[in-house]
Amino acid sequence: MAYEQEKQVAIAAALAAAKLCEQVRHERVPEAMEKSDKSPVTVADFGSQAVICRAIAAAFPDDPVVGEEDAADLREPEKADQLAQVTSYVQAVVGDATPEAVLSWIDRGNGQVGQRYWTLDPIDGTKGFLRQDQYAVALALVEGGEVKLGVLACPALPVVPEQPEGEQGVLFVAVRGQGATMMPISGGEPHPIHVTKADDVENMRFVESVESGHGDHGRQDAVAKAVGITASSLRMDSQAKYGAVAAGRAALYLRLPSPKSPDYREKIWDHGAGTIVVEEAGGRVTDMHGKPLNFSIGAKLSENQGVVVSNGA
Ligand code: AMP
Ligand code: MG
Repeated sequence: MAYEQEKQVAIAAALAAAKLCEQVRHERVPEAMEKSDKSPVTVADFGSQAVICRAIAAAFPDDPVVGEEDAADLREPEKADQLAQVTSYVQAVVGDATPEAVLSWIDRGNGQVGQRYWTLDPIDGTKGFLRQDQYAVALALVEGGEVKLGVLACPALPVVPEQPEGEQGVLFVAVRGQGATMMPISGGEPHPIHVTKADDVENMRFVESVESGHGDHGRQDAVAKAVGITASSLRMDSQAKYGAVAAGRAALYLRLPSPKSPDYREKIWDHGAGTIVVEEAGGRVTDMHGKPLNFSIGAKLSENQGVVVSNGA
């Protein structure tokens, strides 16, 4: 099967990173550090990026990784405590790790978009992670501008949506032309998933971000009503929203530009893995003008505005 080795490496890496994130989430109240753009980052974001970049470097040494995080801040002498914490969490999942090795693995995520590259969000939805809500480890492989493989680990997503207090942790995997699957992170057989059908009224719900600054709740609500969705939205952090559409738990995911940042351009790592999971489940992903997302320009989807994810209907 095409991309079989890439798929196995990506799954193992995402599961190891998800384990690290869950250890941080359960052992300590995750604390946020602030990045230069004022967005939050935690020891788990750095640890997750280190674990995944290490695995890709070992299996595919020539592949660049375009990741969200950068080790520059962690190198500051006053961040020595945080670096020691990151190192010990990485050690717990991969065995041997020194602070220097951890920094160099994180920095492997400073790659450039090219003919073939990986894009990584080590913790997508950091704000959700900090609130003990949804977050995802999102890894995608792009070749010739097309996403070929996506792995989305959602450690806080209920395995059975009707049992939110039951087992949590879902892994979505998709390979171009091979369909999309879902399985509990705890193990078991992956099973194929499909988007809702147009006449599935019961699942005519839509998903959107929790953060009002990452979308336009008012306009999203109006669009959903216009297409006949009467139920109120499910608000969820991270690309778990793509998983909800792919698994038929919602028909639509709307992400229209926030009135607070109308010129915002989406980042490739916030959409790569989710896009292929939904497309391979039979759905459709475009920007708000109906244009395909262009993953071949750079770290930003600079030719696209907003994102519309649907069951296709
Ligand atoms: P979500 O969990 O869906 O709210 O999305 C989280 C992602 O939103 C983060 O990884 C950020 O990269 C991204 N983000 C940050 N600022 C904005 C913005 N103004 N509009 C849309 N997305 C944003
Ligand atoms: Mg993100």
